[in-house]
Amino acid sequence: MNKPGHSLDWVSRSLASVWQPCTQMKDHEAYPLIAITSGKGGWLCDDQGRRFIDGISSWWTNLFGHANPRINQAITEQLNRIEHVMLAGFTHQPVVELSERLSALTNGQLGHAFYASDGASAVEIALKMSHHFWKIQGKPNKKEFICLANSYHGETLGALSVTDVSIFRDAYGSLLNPVHIVMSPDSRAATDRNSSEEIIDLALQNLEECLAKHHQTIAALIIEPLVQCAGQMAMHAPRYVKRAKQLCEQYDVHLIADEIAVGCGRTGTFFACEQAGIWPDLMTLSKGISAGYLPLSICLSTDTIYSAFYSDRISATFLHSHSYTGNPLACRAALAGLDIFQEDGVLEKNKVRSQSIQEAFAWARDHASIEHVRQQGMIFAFDVNAAAISNPGSFSKMMFQEGLQEGVLIRPIGRTVYVIPPYILSADEIQQMGRAIERTLHTVLQKS
Ligand SMILES: *Cc1c(COP(=O)(O)O)cnc(C)c1O
Repeated sequence: MNKPGHSLDWVSRSLASVWQPCTQMKDHEAYPLIAITSGKGGWLCDDQGRRFIDGISSWWTNLFGHANPRINQAITEQLNRIEHVMLAGFTHQPVVELSERLSALTNGQLGHAFYASDGASAVEIALKMSHHFWKIQGKPNKKEFICLANSYHGETLGALSVTDVSIFRDAYGSLLNPVHIVMSPDSRAATDRNSSEEIIDLALQNLEECLAKHHQTIAALIIEPLVQCAGQMAMHAPRYVKRAKQLCEQYDVHLIADEIAVGCGRTGTFFACEQAGIWPDLMTLSKGISAGYLPLSICLSTDTIYSAFYSDRISATFLHSHSYTGNPLACRAALAGLDIFQEDGVLEKNKVRSQSIQEAFAWARDHASIEHVRQQGMIFAFDVNAAAISNPGSFSKMMFQEGLQEGVLIRPIGRTVYVIPPYILSADEIQQMGRAIERTLHTVLQKS
């Protein structure tokens, strides 16, 4: 048994054997790994007996807390029936029920669910499906994509092609397909000369120019509606999404809404697109869809797209598969999550919760070193002034480290500090989180 204060032996062995995601492993000479041994509700516990509020829902996945009794029970019941079976030629109840419920949540507009295991794969599916659709329509030249500046859609090669993040472009640009990058409607670009409304107009103008010029070779526009999450939580008004959809229709281009991060209630409505009053042609879901329990992703599509592939022609078969496609345990976790949304009136209660978040971070509004305080539903973010940070390269890592000392898990993106908490924190826990982050920032700004 491990005693508090004594690191488990496997923790020290981790660095040698486990290559961590998006991590310079040498950094861990200075920053020891944190060994998480259990979790309960909004809290994570390490092997030293320390507790941290999970301010980022374990990479934006966990919606209803760790070790949630209702989800645990649903998975356990499924485990005792069938843990996994291939989906091709076979089907099972959890995957059918989940597809039907997602269809109902889109008013039947996105009634066909294609399954994979991670977000990037769902994006690959959407890109392939869009191009293949146009090919079937006799328009094989429609094979290019438009994405927004500062976009993030995952890290496999197709998803990375529509991702505009310089470190990825610098490292893997030579492996990527060319892409059309249009102006982001990021509200932070507003200045004394241009209001955030004017920024949206400019971004739409830029999009329309791109569509007008290239629509014959463009298959789809991919966007993250309302919040570019990995793009430093850059936010924009629903008006952009609504007009982008109209322009896509006008120029015969698909709209792919990547709701992997913004879906599942994160922005206040179940889908972010609802706030713009539109449905896309293709929508990707992952992260919160399985309530943070198991890898699951989905690409939802319209009748129009599905029926184009429904054919006697082999060439009109959508060719994509993963070994764990539609895993029953993951689908069951997702269904348990959807039950909780319904039974507990989660979206309604989150309105109160996002109000509490705003109150817990009232200190940030008039903090001399903070700018662009912003919130969309259960996403709250602010930027720390570049001038206040003497060592920009290590600011985020220091915030993470100091945050743990204060009992909160945060992982800033550059100088953007944000919380994306699970939908179960009490008003008290939210207050605690706000105070912990205030203290963390204070310490880091003094040290850096
Ligand atoms: C996380 C994320 C992805 C990629 O999902 P993975 O499961 O990490 O592959 C794609 N798009 C958006 C918007 C995301 O936030």
